[in-house]
Amino acid sequence: MFDCHVHSSFSGDSNMSAAEACERAIELGLEGLAFTDHLDYDFPEYEEDFLIDFEKYSLFMDRLKESYSEKLKVIKGLEAGVQPHVIEKTAEVIKKYDFDFVIGSVHLIKGQDPYNKQFYTDLTRFEAYKGYLEEIELMTRNFNEFDVLAHFDYITRYNYYEDRTLRYKEHKDLIDSIFTTIIYKGKGIELNTGSFRYTRNNSTYELDLEILRRYRELGGEIICLGSDAHSLNTIGFQFDYFKNILRETGFKYFTHFENRKPVFSPID
Ligand SMILES: [Zn+2]
Ligand SMILES: [Zn+2]
Repeated sequence: MFDCHVHSSFSGDSNMSAAEACERAIELGLEGLAFTDHLDYDFPEYEEDFLIDFEKYSLFMDRLKESYSEKLKVIKGLEAGVQPHVIEKTAEVIKKYDFDFVIGSVHLIKGQDPYNKQFYTDLTRFEAYKGYLEEIELMTRNFNEFDVLAHFDYITRYNYYEDRTLRYKEHKDLIDSIFTTIIYKGKGIELNTGSFRYTRNNSTYELDLEILRRYRELGGEIICLGSDAHSLNTIGFQFDYFKNILRETGFKYFTHFENRKPVFSPID
């Protein structure tokens, strides 16, 4: 298995060195690790130094790939957090460096950060979730320089609704539209196991398997497992459990990317 979503200390919100992460991945028996450090242009309240020097990052990752080539497949990736007005600028960075893998993310809704509690004031769960999915729909339609949509369930993480589950039946049209676009463009989705680390009253949100089944039904085959780890103890988070979920919802293969091309490995 590959962990396709890990943040090294190049990301302003992680203190884990990339080499430490590789050692941990080997210890866990993973076959590969994709570093997907952040590129989030025009993020509110971020300091300039949150932006990575990609010249340095790219060189560093090339060397790391080389030095681990016998033991672990290191993937030089990027998590591109996109808003409609930064699409072009983001695409330029992606084209400039030879990334193996780019995940497209939505972290903001109309410029607002759903990490903040006040985002949810005056919004029902339905409205908040719909707003997030609409933003993803825009991203997947207008942005092309990504391989996989990250954490479709990001909106479940930081809210305080009693029931935090994102349900297919409540947002059928939007979810169908997003998946149809992704499949048509030859891209994929991620099952972000990191979303299941966010607890409220000691419980995590429950994944609606209908979402994964629907993606399969529409012809979706490309799916990556990513832990979204920012620290050593969450690399490969609950991968065995979610491997079974993938099997149960009709997937035959895990996917990871090399040179921006999908590589499929059978789910045993
Ligand atoms: Zn993210
Ligand atoms: Zn991430």
